[in-house]
Amino acid sequence: MKKFLTLIMILLVTVVTFAQPQKSSKKPIIGISSTWGGGIATSAPLNYVKSVMRAGGVPVVLPVTDDPQLIARMLETVDAVIMTGGEDIDPLKWFGEEPHPALGEVIPERDLFDITLIRMAVAKGLPVLGICRGEQLMNVAFGGSLYQDIPSQVKGTYVKHMQKAPGYYGTHSVMIETGSLLYKQIGLDSVATNSFHHQAVKFVAPGFKVTARSKDGIVEAIEKIGSSKVFGVQFHPEVFTANDIDTFLGIFKYLVEEAIGNRQ
Ligand code: MN
Repeated sequence: MKKFLTLIMILLVTVVTFAQPQKSSKKPIIGISSTWGGGIATSAPLNYVKSVMRAGGVPVVLPVTDDPQLIARMLETVDAVIMTGGEDIDPLKWFGEEPHPALGEVIPERDLFDITLIRMAVAKGLPVLGICRGEQLMNVAFGGSLYQDIPSQVKGTYVKHMQKAPGYYGTHSVMIETGSLLYKQIGLDSVATNSFHHQAVKFVAPGFKVTARSKDGIVEAIEKIGSSKVFGVQFHPEVFTANDIDTFLGIFKYLVEEAIGNRQ
């Protein structure tokens, strides 16, 4: 009888141990938006993948599709989303402006996927980090607009936003609002960032606010007002982070923390 009871106890302990939801110890899955690759590839730069891994997340690249049901299912499997950098957004279709002659490459399939993905992710309450195009897309997806070409459309701009220095090297200053998510993430009110963009946020989407600017007034970061988990930066923190420069690692760590918190 005693042996039998001991066996039952061991069984109980085993069941209780393995039945415990061990979510908190599991690394969160971070979905990374990809590009269309001419219809023959769907890929995301390794820098995003490495940054997520360095911050303690599990990177998963989300392939471009126009099927909202597939996108919904993708969003059931991830704990947060990163909208990556890339091509220009179709101004006519997504913010009602004629294309400026200096507009760069546009990929309609990617635009549709990205806009659908970010709207559904935010509606679902997932943490979302937008980077470069991803930040601009965040603004456009929620009703904002863009400068299609900074040099020809922004009067008085005097900062080089398309650097020729290496990507892991900061070239222009960015002033950060204290109290913003970005300030919380990196702990600096001023920092040198890299810069690889000829477009920028113009009209800020309703419900969003600017949290960082370069010295010539170009928007360098935005966040959703009243939200702790929807934010974007115009620069490329993933290039620093993937190259073991920790200035912006806090951005990815914050996203991972929010992803864990969101799941519980
Ligand atoms: Mn810039």
